[in-house]
Amino acid sequence: MTHSTNTDQENCIFCKIVAGEIAASKVYEDDETIAFLDIQPVNPGHTLVIPKDHFENIYTTPVMTWMRVQMTAQKVALAVKHATDADGVNIYMNNEAAAGQVVPHTHVHIIPRYNDDNLTLWHGTAYKDPEEMESFADKISTELKTEN
Ligand code: 5GP
Ligand code: ZN
Repeated sequence: MTHSTNTDQENCIFCKIVAGEIAASKVYEDDETIAFLDIQPVNPGHTLVIPKDHFENIYTTPVMTWMRVQMTAQKVALAVKHATDADGVNIYMNNEAAAGQVVPHTHVHIIPRYNDDNLTLWHGTAYKDPEEMESFADKISTELKTEN
């Protein structure tokens, strides 16, 4: 599903945070975006950046809004790194349930990382052969040519 309804917004926990109806540890706010601490951090200081308006995921977020989210994410990434004394920072986003999205309001995770935190990301696997790789490149570039 890529469209949202008023009902989605009324039930949206992040819209409630934007409206001040439920509490959040807010660290940044401007006219279009806010950033607040994730209630269940991967590491302490894990922060979420969201647009104030309700969009379900990256597919439906207007490009100018997405740009503002990224501008805030860039600012917040450096602040989180300094404030938590992190060795690095992961920035990621889940889109749709299959990718692990639980809250259907566009959000970017900013996670402080440490050399010794022993968190492992998923591992890559080689393509069967160069032809398989090329066929994925072809399909994706064809999609891009036909978009809009
Ligand atoms: P997702 O899996 O959708 O990408 O991530 C949703 C994130 O929102 C999770 O990391 C979860 O801990 C966080 N979260 C869920 N409910 C709340 C809440 O009420 N307040 C805050 N601050 N974070 C929340
Ligand atoms: Zn929302």
